[in-house]
Formats: sequence, C-alpha cells, structure tokens
Amino acid sequence: MEDCIFCKIIEGQIPCNKVYEDEEILAFHDINPATPIHILVIPKKHITSLAHLSKEDEPIVGKIYGVINKIAQEQGFKQDGYRVIVNCGKNGGQEVMHLHFHILAGKQLGEKIV
Ligand code: 5GP
Ligand code: ZN
Repeated sequence: MEDCIFCKIIEGQIPCNKVYEDEEILAFHDINPATPIHILVIPKKHITSLAHLSKEDEPIVGKIYGVINKIAQEQGFKQDGYRVIVNCGKNGGQEVMHLHFHILAGKQLGEKIV
C-alpha cells in the first residue's frame, strides 16, 4: 500500500527496531514509546483498521495475540503483565491507518478507561 508508513517498514524502506518477524507478522519498537517497553505488532498484509477486518483476515488476529504472548515471554515482561491496545478510527485515536496492536509494558499502568 503506497503512502502507508507501516507497509514501508515491512518492505524495509523505513528502518525499524525489530522484535519479531514471520511470514505474516512483524513486531518492532514504537518510535515514541509511551511506556518503558512499547512494541507494535502488525500484520504484513495491509489492513487499514480493525473496522476493515474481513472474515478471511480474522485468523491473523488470533495469531497476533499468540505472537504477543511469545514476545512477552522472550522479552521478560510476561510475569509482570502488560496491556494490549488497538486504536480504531477517529474516535479510537488511530493515527497510522494500518492495523496495529500496541504492547505496553515495563511499568504499572494507572490510567484505566475500562
Ligand atoms: P496509533 O495512534 O495509530 O494507534 O499508533 C501509531 C503508533 O505508531 C504511535 O505510537 C507512533 O509513535 C508509532 N509510529 C509512527 N510512525 C512510526 C515509525 O515510523 N516507526 C515506528 N517504530 N513507530 C512509529
Ligand atoms: Zn500498510
């Protein structure tokens, strides 16, 4: 997808600090971390947002959660816990229009909305 910053990262046109990669999924450190550990997990397929997820794309979401669990184990924050956030659309505060899962870890998170 042209003009998608995350597609450019997937294609290697923009560098990233990679945490995990397989055929379908890429994870890398957020450029502007909100917490001591802030990792983004994305499907390599361009999916604009959670609201754009088709039936055939649904299995990738389960795989992403599996990868998140694996990253938490490997990076050593599984025990202490973490938060996963998906911002969707305007009201959800989504800025990059390529589906991504934020993993926030490394400190006690206080601002609970739900
Ligand atoms: P959103 O607000 O769309 O849920 O989150 C987008 C996230 O992408 C933000 O946390 C932002 O810091 C991160 N981000 C934007 N551009 C880049 C980039 O070029 N590289 C990396 N690693 N993160 C980025
Ligand atoms: Zn994209």
